[in-house]
Amino acid sequence: MTTQTEEKFIGTTRKVTAHQTQNEGLSFEKSAPGKKAYRLPPLDVPEVDPSALLGEARRSHNAELPELSEIEIIRHFTRLSTWNYAIDLGMYPLGSCTMKYNPRVNEFVSRLEGIAEAHPYQPESLSQGSLGIIRLLQQCLLEITGMDAITLQPAAGAHGEFTGILLVRAYHQAKGNPRRNVIIPDSAHGTNPATAAVCGYDVVNFKSNAQGGIDVEALAQAVNEDTAALMLTNPSTIGVFENEIHRIADILHSKGALLYMDGANMNALCGKTRPGDFGVDVMHLNLHKTFSTPHGGGGPGSGPVACKKILEPYLPIPVVEQGSDGLLHLNYDRPQSVGRVRAFYGNFGMFVRALAYTLANGPDGLRQTTEDAVLNANYIRKKLEDLYELPYNTPSMHEVVFSDRRQLRNGVRTGDIAKRLIDYGFHPYTVSFPLIVPGALMIEPTESESREELDLFVDAMRQIAREVEENPQLVLDAPHSTRVSRLDETTAARKPVLRWRKP
Ligand SMILES: *Cc1c(COP(=O)(O)O)cnc(C)c1O
Repeated sequence: MTTQTEEKFIGTTRKVTAHQTQNEGLSFEKSAPGKKAYRLPPLDVPEVDPSALLGEARRSHNAELPELSEIEIIRHFTRLSTWNYAIDLGMYPLGSCTMKYNPRVNEFVSRLEGIAEAHPYQPESLSQGSLGIIRLLQQCLLEITGMDAITLQPAAGAHGEFTGILLVRAYHQAKGNPRRNVIIPDSAHGTNPATAAVCGYDVVNFKSNAQGGIDVEALAQAVNEDTAALMLTNPSTIGVFENEIHRIADILHSKGALLYMDGANMNALCGKTRPGDFGVDVMHLNLHKTFSTPHGGGGPGSGPVACKKILEPYLPIPVVEQGSDGLLHLNYDRPQSVGRVRAFYGNFGMFVRALAYTLANGPDGLRQTTEDAVLNANYIRKKLEDLYELPYNTPSMHEVVFSDRRQLRNGVRTGDIAKRLIDYGFHPYTVSFPLIVPGALMIEPTESESREELDLFVDAMRQIAREVEENPQLVLDAPHSTRVSRLDETTAARKPVLRWRKP
């Protein structure tokens, strides 16, 4: 297996090692009675009969836990970790997800004792440092977005959308008419229509124009007194900046509707332009995308919501305020608030990381980050556009979307190319999204990647395009270098087999 695998890596210097196959699956089955990974000191208290202590709660038989020695456990988990892919191993070009590197200084700062050990029930007088972190991050994010007020409570992007649309709803309700519809372009992330529906709105699906953006004339027709808001991702999910954003905002405002911006793509705007300046009323950020805090594998997120003054009264409680005593306080006395959206104050560890990242970069660094992210995406675009179809010719921002149209002539789809990319040592790009591009390949390198890494990725993609022409079956059967190849993805998600079984 190893020799075969190596042959397929010609064209890149990257290797995925397919070693240790003989050790595969040494987990629960490796258990042997009496093996231990611990040794207890001699008993120095009187021995007690457990039944006397526990009564009926005492187990009648031993739990069948695996019995292993320390080194067997260490090897098992270490080996498992090497079967996974991570940003610390290589590029993770998952479009829309902004899988950037999380600098180690973030981790260092978030683990400082005073920060990591702070308890949310500590009195305010002993929480001034933590509240100060919240306040400073809020000020930075307001400066970056050009908005007036912000909450850090939402725990993810989708949760931020939910909070933002609750603000929109509260605003219209306070004016005596909650309105019925939220307009959402067909290129939107699936969480947008889900959010609008969960908040009780009817979703009006809005068709993108030939450039993948908003047709302003059609929008003017679609907006009316029943429109609560337009939920717009800018730059859009095909990585294109909405040039007519001012007019879009004007159209909405002229009918009393609001402009919600899905700010998950702020990595393309940070330090260059501000949503607050181009007419956005409310937006969310994904700290775990733009501001480097780690994500993936269901890890913690953070989706702050920033808004204009008109929406401030409705922000979730509590809000951090500076009192006349100079101290920071949590204010719960906000009668128009939509209430709480999260226990305590949000995912505090994410705030610390995002703040460390923001302060370490400073304004110039954040601008440079944006420029590098856009440069990297366009580098990949230029290096691949002769082999892969570009469905929209509009200039790319921080991500580039190709389609599998040319490869489909040989029966190869975007999902097959993505699987083959694994053999070359890369995490797949985003497959089949956005939906407006049939067979989409959505690639977002982020600013983290060096020219050398981008070149390896480009080489792999070009090599795969050649394979599609010469030997499509090789791509259709990929990946060849992983422990399991093609899974039934639905069953794998619904009925995962989490243990190894003897064949
Ligand atoms: C990632 C993303 C979201 C959702 O964010 P989560 O933190 O995954 O909930 C929403 N919209 C866009 C455009 C995104 O890329």
